Amino acid sequence: MGRATTEALALRRTPFGDTSQIVEFLTKDRGRVSIILKGVHRPKARKGGAVDLLDHSVITYFSRRGSRSLAQLAERRVLSHHPVMRRRTDLLLAGEYLVELLRALAPEGQRVLGIYHHAQAYLEALEANPSPESLPCVVFALQGGMLRLTGFELVLDRCVSCDQRPSGRRTLRCDPERGGVVCMACRTGEDHSIGLTTSAAEAILSFRSLDPRRAEEISIPSEIAHQMKRYYDRALLHVMERPVRCHVLPGSV
Ligand SMILES: [Zn+2]
Repeated sequence: MGRATTEALALRRTPFGDTSQIVEFLTKDRGRVSIILKGVHRPKARKGGAVDLLDHSVITYFSRRGSRSLAQLAERRVLSHHPVMRRRTDLLLAGEYLVELLRALAPEGQRVLGIYHHAQAYLEALEANPSPESLPCVVFALQGGMLRLTGFELVLDRCVSCDQRPSGRRTLRCDPERGGVVCMACRTGEDHSIGLTTSAAEAILSFRSLDPRRAEEISIPSEIAHQMKRYYDRALLHVMERPVRCHVLPGSV
């Protein structure tokens, strides 16, 4: 039996019998892990009660090495329940979007410090009660960071084929299937590229390493925000191989 204690965010919970839950956590030390919480609904459980989506806690659990049976929770101490996020529908939707990205992109069973800290920073940004107008920038910071941390960043400062840097301020063509910007000379007939102005490309580059907690202070013109939304939607569609179900930023950006 291996015993582990780690910080974790709850990504999905399923009832199990009358008294138990199976919860998929994103743990700091071992990525996504599914754990059974036996007797979690009984009074006085040392397991912190039933788990809510995105609860942040410190958990101790047991797992049998090499076994396919579920790990078992021993103890859980809740650090944050994110009360502000739960009071606003748009923030809760933004939280559900995080769950969808993590379930699709975070690996199982490996240490994921960067992804874990980024998710945590995003939740703190939501908990700071950002204005509805600044929420898109917080979401862009999440998306940009997730693409960087999972190694799916697209090349935006030069052509992926000939390495030529774009000159002048004109619209670039970015093709997620080819890995980024493709210049006129290197474009082919079968092209699924999207247009990006150089200002939008610069904004996307600056959001790659942006802490979501700083994003609320940034204001971007709506025309650029519109392009950024389309860019992240397309880049993540390519990575996840399916459209996201949670539409956190409706067409209104
Ligand atoms: Zn080229």
